[in-house]
Amino acid sequence: MAQEKPKILIVDDRAENLYALDKLLKTLDVEVVQALSGAEALNMTLEHDFSLAIVDIQMPEMDGYELVELLRSNEDTATLPAIFVSAIYSDEYHHRKGYEAGAVDFMSKPFVPEILLSKVKVFADLYRQRKSLEDEVKHRRQAEAALQEANITLSKRAVQLAASSQIGRQVTSILGLDELLTKVVELIQARFGYYFVGVWLLNEQQTGIASRVSKRRNQSSSIQEGSAIPMDSAHGIVISVCRSGQYHLSNDTTTGLQYSPELSDTRSQLVLPLRIGPHPIGALDVRSERLVAFGPEDIPVMQMLADQISIPIRNAQLYDAERQRRQLAESLEQMGRVLSGSLDMAEVPNLILEQLITVVPYERGAVLLREGDLARVIAQHGFPKPWPKDVTIPIRQDDVFQQLIEARHPILMDDVVTEPVWQPGDEPSAHQAWLGVPLISKGQVIGIISLARQGTRTFKPEDVPLVSAFASQAAVALENAGLYDRLAHFNEELELLVQQRTEELEHAYQTLSKVDKTKSDFITVAAHELRTPLTLIQGYSSLLGTLTEGDPDAQQLVEGIRTGEGRLLEIVNSMLDISKIDSQVLGVRKQPMILVETLASVCVDFDDVLAERHLKLAVTDLHDLPTIQADPDLIFKLFSHLIGNAIKYTPDGGSITVSGKAILNTSQGPNGGDWVELLVSDTGIGIDAAHHEMIFEKFYQTGPVKLHSSGKTKFRGGGPGLGLAIARGIVQAHGGRIWVESPGYDETTCPGSCFHILLPVSDSEEKSVAGLDSHEAQLAQRG
Ligand code: ADP
Repeated sequence: MAQEKPKILIVDDRAENLYALDKLLKTLDVEVVQALSGAEALNMTLEHDFSLAIVDIQMPEMDGYELVELLRSNEDTATLPAIFVSAIYSDEYHHRKGYEAGAVDFMSKPFVPEILLSKVKVFADLYRQRKSLEDEVKHRRQAEAALQEANITLSKRAVQLAASSQIGRQVTSILGLDELLTKVVELIQARFGYYFVGVWLLNEQQTGIASRVSKRRNQSSSIQEGSAIPMDSAHGIVISVCRSGQYHLSNDTTTGLQYSPELSDTRSQLVLPLRIGPHPIGALDVRSERLVAFGPEDIPVMQMLADQISIPIRNAQLYDAERQRRQLAESLEQMGRVLSGSLDMAEVPNLILEQLITVVPYERGAVLLREGDLARVIAQHGFPKPWPKDVTIPIRQDDVFQQLIEARHPILMDDVVTEPVWQPGDEPSAHQAWLGVPLISKGQVIGIISLARQGTRTFKPEDVPLVSAFASQAAVALENAGLYDRLAHFNEELELLVQQRTEELEHAYQTLSKVDKTKSDFITVAAHELRTPLTLIQGYSSLLGTLTEGDPDAQQLVEGIRTGEGRLLEIVNSMLDISKIDSQVLGVRKQPMILVETLASVCVDFDDVLAERHLKLAVTDLHDLPTIQADPDLIFKLFSHLIGNAIKYTPDGGSITVSGKAILNTSQGPNGGDWVELLVSDTGIGIDAAHHEMIFEKFYQTGPVKLHSSGKTKFRGGGPGLGLAIARGIVQAHGGRIWVESPGYDETTCPGSCFHILLPVSDSEEKSVAGLDSHEAQLAQRG
């Protein structure tokens, strides 16, 4: 900066003197100011800062002495150096008087210009030096003040930066979003002292602001999570900061903005974007009750703070989302378990609604199943009581149900009243928010879940995938319950059918038992009725034989009668035997008996017929058998029937073998006792497996009855069908078993049959039959 020229005041009542002096002084680098009187000179000192005054002593009104004295007495001009000039008063007295008045020099006129100039120059230089010193002092002071100010700003900023990085550090380890945000607003308020601090966050879809945490001074922080403020809403500072990513500063909010009553003290507001890189995730809102509370230097500090808290907020959001997803997966799995735990079609739909309300809260819900053009309500929750039974809703073209079925996707309505596809009257108007989800099973829409909430926009978009995931499990559960229902129904029908059949069978069995009893009764009656005339015939034939002795022709006729009698007697005896067996009164008189001996006497009876039919009968391996406890007569009868049958069903020239073995203390025998097993085998026509059991029933015959020949021992000679029934009765009465083995029936190849008879050696073995296990007991019964 160029320094001002030193100013020199020249005072003289004579203008020509002033002129001359002015001329002279201007040769120096100074500014000259003239005054024609003392009064004028004083005025000039008010306007200018002089470095020197050159004063003429002799002036009218106020002389030079007076002027200089006045200058000395004034604080502003007290130090102004003055040189007196005089042509008249150049003596010693006046010089002294001049110095007393405050002059620094005294010059007599005419003066030597060089001397005057050199003196003036000294004062001008002094002035310059003083001025530059003053300037320097002033600059120093200014610099000091600036430095001090900078120091204050810097230390304030340092404190703020430290506070912001401390807040950043303090919250990084908090993973729960609510906890983190609460801490953030509390710390910011504690460190920066703002009267209000709020954090606003965008929702996951970036479609609006979903949650906010705020704190006013002297109040605890509050969390508000509700329906989002949509991003496309035209007003709102926070929305515009989130949208633009630029901060908003207002240092005077008294004009224009309308704040809610609880924030009406707001005078300054700074809203900064919370961002990850260039992407906004929300906004930090700080407010003060003071006007112009935020300086430009606050913005970078607060933005740094906003950036620092953005990262932990994002982390917490991700953690929260992950935790929510995990919780959801767990609760879905849990619901799946609950749903699949029931197969009751009456219970499953209610379970669906019960479980669903825990995932997506609703006030009214219904499960509807599709039945052609109708949707049947199978469960409902929250509708006014009493709820009528069997409610069906017609599915009309272009209505919401039809749309759900066609779209196969959930439909979310923020306000049903404004939807043209909504069927009026389906939901009362208070429940305006609606969420419908199709139930899809095996590619088919089998029904619908319908949920409603009060108010508008009360379902969130994030509810849709939740209900969808749930609906797929619900559909499977419904399908399973439906299947199970059908299966249960089918089972019930089957059980009913089995019951009917059992009753029919029981009835048939009772009828058969009655018939069987009638048959048994008939046999008993017939046998007794036949026996009396047979005894008569026997008596008279015997008498006739005696009377016709010596007459060979007559004797032959009598012999014929006797053969017939014998055959008839055998049949009658068989009938009596079977009636005893049926009524379980077959008397068994046991005694020690040797089987080989009994068999020998049985065989003797068949000698003639064996010879006649060219059959061979061999009895082998019976000698070593132990003596058994049995009724010899009954055992005789048993083998008579078996060998008789073998003869009847074996063609001429065949062979019959009776063999046996002892089963002693071996697991082969029933219950490990001592047993004998006898086998009657032949080379006859064999027995089809289908008849192996039935041939032991009385009157059962395998072949056609018309093929019967009446001969007792003729090939395929028929009998009454009682032989094997009696054989089984005798064996069972001894506590044994009888059964047949044969490869099958074939008259050409004659595969043969083998009858097995298992008899106990003594009574103890017989008793042990009672102790056979059930399977063996059944086998024993069969025999
Ligand atoms: P039947 O008086 O008819 O001989 P059984 O009770 O003695 O009556 O025999 C029943 C049926 O068992 C016979 O009609 C016959 O078909 C069959 N049968 C019995 N023993 C034999 C055998 N050794 N070989 C082939 N079939 C036999």
